[in-house]
Amino acid sequence: MRVLKKWSNLPIRLKFFSVFLTIVLFAGSGMFVLNHQLLQVARDNDKIINHSVPNLTTQLQIKSTIMERINYVMLYVTTGDEELHKKFIEASERAKSIEAQLKKNALPHEREGIEQFIIHSEDWEGILSNNVIPVYQRNNPKDALDTLNSQAQPLAIELMNEAEELSQQKIHEISNDNKKVLNNAWSSVQAGYIVMGGTLLLALLFSYYISRSITNPIFSLLSGVRRMTKGDFTTQVAMKRQDEWGELSKAFNRMSQSIASLVEELKQANVRLREESHRARESTRLKSEFLANMSHEVRTPLTGIIGFAELLHEDAEGRLSPAQKNFTRNIVKAGEHLLTMINDILDLSKIEAGKYELEMSRFDMVEMIRNTLIIMQAKAEKQNISLVIETKYPTLQVMADKTRIRQILLNLLGNAIKFSHAHSVVRIIIEQSEHMVIVRVADEGIGIEVEKAEKIFEPFYQNDGRLERKYEGTGLGLALSRQFIELHGGTIGVESKPGEGSVFSFYLPSGKREAPTPDTCEQACKKEPLLVLYTADFLGSFRDFSEKIQKGFRPFLSFMIESKREAIEIVQKHPEYDILVAAQSFQAGYVDMLEGISEHTQGRIFSYIESPLRFVERGQVMRMAEYIPPSSDDMSDIISKTT
Ligand code: ADP
Repeated sequence: MRVLKKWSNLPIRLKFFSVFLTIVLFAGSGMFVLNHQLLQVARDNDKIINHSVPNLTTQLQIKSTIMERINYVMLYVTTGDEELHKKFIEASERAKSIEAQLKKNALPHEREGIEQFIIHSEDWEGILSNNVIPVYQRNNPKDALDTLNSQAQPLAIELMNEAEELSQQKIHEISNDNKKVLNNAWSSVQAGYIVMGGTLLLALLFSYYISRSITNPIFSLLSGVRRMTKGDFTTQVAMKRQDEWGELSKAFNRMSQSIASLVEELKQANVRLREESHRARESTRLKSEFLANMSHEVRTPLTGIIGFAELLHEDAEGRLSPAQKNFTRNIVKAGEHLLTMINDILDLSKIEAGKYELEMSRFDMVEMIRNTLIIMQAKAEKQNISLVIETKYPTLQVMADKTRIRQILLNLLGNAIKFSHAHSVVRIIIEQSEHMVIVRVADEGIGIEVEKAEKIFEPFYQNDGRLERKYEGTGLGLALSRQFIELHGGTIGVESKPGEGSVFSFYLPSGKREAPTPDTCEQACKKEPLLVLYTADFLGSFRDFSEKIQKGFRPFLSFMIESKREAIEIVQKHPEYDILVAAQSFQAGYVDMLEGISEHTQGRIFSYIESPLRFVERGQVMRMAEYIPPSSDDMSDIISKTT
């Protein structure tokens, strides 16, 4: 057990190394045993080839020399040919050398038999040399032949049998040795198989173990990551290992702990922010109510003052001096300026208090702009400025509050003329995208620094204190314009370069679809579900978000998406549903994803992005989807906008 524990705590590289070493050692020692056995087989084989086989050959040769010798002697004593006697002597010498070799090569267990054979052979040859040949040479051929037939011949046969027995013994031994070699070779082959099989088994077992010891921690880390993806940031991975995986799991656990505490902090910060924004909204509402009441109270006497000053200025009886006429004109002008300002403040307060109501109607934007331009023409001509309309649309129907849109346009054109140099051009460009009508007012005037581009939309902000004296104004026009446009569900912003000019653009929903109506269950519950697709960065806000949209009556299906492809796959399954794409912040692929989705749905596309967008980003989003501003406090608002 302790060894196993020690083993599992080893660093992965050491584990790999020791496993590799074990397999190599096992295979190496197997090969060593195998080689040893093969060597033995080769030696046995060598013994057969170099020793036993030559011995057998010698034994066979000896048999033929016995035959040879007796035949020479037999022919000699019958023919008397001396040549045959010589050949006998030569054969005897050959036989002696063969016998000497036989004796020399004899194995210990053969030695006795061979020596016995040599004694018998010498005895036999003694009979031939001493009892047969000399008797014949003493002219006693008959006795010589008798001795040959009665003694030498039977002994030769016995000797041949003895030689035959010796060679049979040798053949038997060779066959035994051969069997032994074969057996040894077969055992070597078997040992080879065992070593190979064992190595293979060992390698398999180790690779199974190693792969398990790598994949197991990967799986447990993966399931931890999955739990985190589903929002369980407190998730911990249990891994009691001391190796690299153990380190990784500890790091993962530390990371999830810090994410969990971050999420907790964020939630608390969110709650605090919400409380604060609620308080801020409440105080804004009170302020706006106060301002609305005040403005109303001031407007009535002011209208009276202007009326009486105008009467005075008309001077029906001609009693005013030129200086006095100048005073009365200034009173009227200042009164009118004050009245405009008060009216603007009143409108702003109403909007902020949520009491402003648009008077929506369908009208032709191009025509309205042409008419507005006529009003501004005189003012522009005074400063030698030309007003030009650029559009490819002869008419453009929109659903909006015509008076307010005209007011916005007057303000933008008024500013463009006010901040332009003489002999320059102010262009009004009218464009259209799928859901939006876009109007741009471009001048070649003094321009605005980038960092001021958002500030000028704040109430009472005027770009430069010094300019205030040079250019008339209240600092309320743009603030009011933004409020009016946003009430329409649109957006307004500026792109500018100091010294080169500015382009103010507003995007207005073209109102091809009817304006949203308040949500009720009768309307919303009957609709198909809303498809809510949210990006991974929105995960933290999703729980709150979904709780809030549940307050709306429309059923919804939600999916987390990590790529444009995933989003399209989901949309393709429900092409008829309306889609709401929610994200924490505007990111690079967001508009591209909206575009991808729009190609696969027949439903409407809504975009909800929690953190505020820059003007350009808003414009990009609004070209592809209907934009739901994050200011919606009660999220059932969102649902009502999608119904
Ligand atoms: P007002 O024009 O009455 O001062 P606005 O809200 O219309 O108030 O404008 C706020 C400020 O924005 C202006 O005082 C000016 O500094 C700046 N501004 C507006 N339009 C332009 C423009 N076309 N060129 C340069 N600056 C501009």
